[in-house]
Amino acid sequence: MRGRFAPSPTGPLHLGNLRTAMVSWLQVRSLSGDWLVRIEDLDTVTSSVAHEADQLAALAAMGMQSDLPIVRQSTRFESYRDAIATLRRLGRVYECYCSRREIREAAQAPHDFTAGDAYPGTCRELSAARREQFRRSGRPAALRLRCDGERFVIDDLIAGRFVGDADDVVVQRNDGVPAYNLAVVVDDAAQGITHIARGGDLLTSTPRQRLLQELLDLPEPTYAHVPLVVGADGKRLAKRHGAITLADLAARGVSVDRVREWLMSSLAAASADEFDINLVSELPIMVSNEDF
Ligand SMILES: [Zn+2]
Repeated sequence: MRGRFAPSPTGPLHLGNLRTAMVSWLQVRSLSGDWLVRIEDLDTVTSSVAHEADQLAALAAMGMQSDLPIVRQSTRFESYRDAIATLRRLGRVYECYCSRREIREAAQAPHDFTAGDAYPGTCRELSAARREQFRRSGRPAALRLRCDGERFVIDDLIAGRFVGDADDVVVQRNDGVPAYNLAVVVDDAAQGITHIARGGDLLTSTPRQRLLQELLDLPEPTYAHVPLVVGADGKRLAKRHGAITLADLAARGVSVDRVREWLMSSLAAASADEFDINLVSELPIMVSNEDF
């Protein structure tokens, strides 16, 4: 049994991130497995080693440390390229020349999209001539997964049963960098991750990741999507909500022990021994400065 926490080193971890990490860590401890930290630094523009160090220090302050050496996605491009090559061999990728703006505009035509942020399929059936035209114009192509109406049922340990359709997700960005959804699936399998506890905002991405796992012949992990921590206004935690990182809270005289206590009580446990993932609420948790 193996779990993981996989932050992007783009800024300090806030209470919501720490709570998600804590669920994963406690789940692993309760099942006597290994807990891993993976650094999702595919985007070298927004990632930094300073943020990485700061995040690892925050996790350590909460008592969480990776049981195995930390893996960075920036070192794993070859594995992602192999996976993309496999999808290509299966005839499951196509070139997409759309700009973000074109995708947004196409998605606003009501007959042209299925759900949410799903890609409207503009480039699915590009003619060879049109594709050649794009290539010659120097416009870079992203690679998208060609899905075929696949639907997945996810029995999530916290969110319950979720049914969702896979979509034509980007597997390689138009700057050549492998895309998040592809990398995460490849890494979880390579690291032998059996139990994924992660932020609830990723629940709707799970069907597309399940399809990638199937196509790449990778095992299906158990999922637990941890509800977001929201501010007093009910909105996703952000800087404007005040003290939301360990550094913010320390500046107000709040000890790390007090923060850990808050995290545990928000997870219906007073100690690690008492933790039961089935008791974690599927509802967002509200936090305000009065909590500390
Ligand atoms: Zn396109």
